[in-house]
Amino acid sequence: MKRKLKIVLILIAISLTGIVIFQIYWSLNAYTINKKIFDSKVIVAMQLAMDRCKKDYFDSVRTVLVKRLSDPSSVITIDTPSRVNTPNNNVNPVLNISFSFHGSVNSNPFQTNVNTYNYYKDMIGHKATVPEVLTEMSFYVPTLMMELTTFLGIDDAMHPSQELSTFIKTHPGIPGNKWPLPKEGIYALPPNYKQADSLKLSRYFTEELQKRNIDAPFILSLPNKGQSEQNFNFHDGETNENVYQYHGFIFLLTHYTRQDEFTLYAKAAIRNPQYAVIKGMMITLLLSALLVLFTIFCFYYIVRTINQQKALGELKDDFINNMTHELKTPIATITVAIEGLQKFNALNDPEKTQRYLQTSRNELTKLNELVGKVLDVAAFERDKITLLKEKIQVDALMNELITAEKAKAAKTVSITYNNRDRVDYIVADKLHFGNAILNVLDNAVKYSNEPADIKIDVYRDGNMIVFSVSDKGMGIPAAHLGRIFEKFHRVPTGNVHNVKGTGLGLSYVKYIAEAHGGQVTVKSEVNTGSQFMISIPM
Ligand code: ADP
Repeated sequence: MKRKLKIVLILIAISLTGIVIFQIYWSLNAYTINKKIFDSKVIVAMQLAMDRCKKDYFDSVRTVLVKRLSDPSSVITIDTPSRVNTPNNNVNPVLNISFSFHGSVNSNPFQTNVNTYNYYKDMIGHKATVPEVLTEMSFYVPTLMMELTTFLGIDDAMHPSQELSTFIKTHPGIPGNKWPLPKEGIYALPPNYKQADSLKLSRYFTEELQKRNIDAPFILSLPNKGQSEQNFNFHDGETNENVYQYHGFIFLLTHYTRQDEFTLYAKAAIRNPQYAVIKGMMITLLLSALLVLFTIFCFYYIVRTINQQKALGELKDDFINNMTHELKTPIATITVAIEGLQKFNALNDPEKTQRYLQTSRNELTKLNELVGKVLDVAAFERDKITLLKEKIQVDALMNELITAEKAKAAKTVSITYNNRDRVDYIVADKLHFGNAILNVLDNAVKYSNEPADIKIDVYRDGNMIVFSVSDKGMGIPAAHLGRIFEKFHRVPTGNVHNVKGTGLGLSYVKYIAEAHGGQVTVKSEVNTGSQFMISIPM
């Protein structure tokens, strides 16, 4: 049995370790995956935030252009040249657009054709004004943008910077020496706007993160123009970027060869991303931990049950030993008495016959009690006991029990009875309730040295009536106090049982007390004595 239990324990330990290791393995795996998802969410959020910034920028450029072009001091003239100039016979006539602003007129009118013009007009909507259409078109037609900004004298505001203008003007590598398209990202940050823009970018980034259920602090940095990605570093102490780094880039002026000179970077570093990732996995992790705990509990429960079964098995063995002993003694006594009657002609001696018969009768009563006890336990084991409740006079019942106990006790017994609250009667099953009290009384006598000194008190406690039986006997060790009401449990006294018993009495008492709606409790101290209290409702 012990070896088997050991094997079971080892197997359980192995499988538990396996389960825990696998849970950890899968949790780590899940972490890696979630971390990747988190990373891509952050990158997408950054890109969208930057897109929104760009859109804002274009919107503001649009507003400025439309406002300036709509000003009464700007005059826009659109005329169609003669048929001769149109190759397709008027199908798609060319438009000449000239501007005058405070009296200065552009020398070369800007040329486009009707279809193109209408295309941009339709793009805005049917109510589009001429300044609106021209502004929209300038976003796609660089020459028009150049014309407009130069004409309005706001080219510096439109273009990245003075250095960039100079660079483009003097750089032969730029195709066609054209102005860059705002649509493709003329988005420069004049130094004084940098702070405002980084605030805006930060706000958009926060919003985009929130849309993706990420609530983590970050550091955002917009460096100066012309700084390459490699040189782009946070200052010491700003972030733990060496560990984790997220960055989004605003690629600007991508059409031009030396893009690193004009590439703007925006970079965000999430602080403690591990924490944010773990926070997102909280439910899964908790469930996983709960599962592990639950499994551990199940295993613990199995081991405990096995142990209990083992203990019960041992108790049953003890019980059988005890029972054999208890059954054998009266049987042997009766056998001897009958033999005496038969062999020694005791029949002729009425006094002797009487004595032998009385002995046999006493022993038979003991046997009968024992069998009754076992049968009672068997009955309550199967919940077969039905209580027949009746009104019982307390004093009468107690006197009856005390007399019976004194009669059968094999030692000198003194029993004092005190009905402290003058309790008149109780409603209970006379047979079983009486038996329960008798069991406790029996134990008090059994586990006391001669002369046994026993006190019975009956009193009220709230709406309960308590029957208390105290003795000055050997007492019960604290470790066993909680278990004496279990079936077969006896306080071990080494291998010798100087006091005989089955270990069933108190379990029967407990069952009967509870069946009456009450309970049984015990207070005891080794070598001082014990007190059993059976309470039932009034
Ligand atoms: P038993 O037939 O062994 O008396 P019980 O169920 O009546 O079985 O009691 C269980 C155990 O509790 C006893 O074996 C004994 O060790 C302990 N016990 C019960 N009553 C007393 C008492 N009054 N004093 C000391 N020990 C007691």
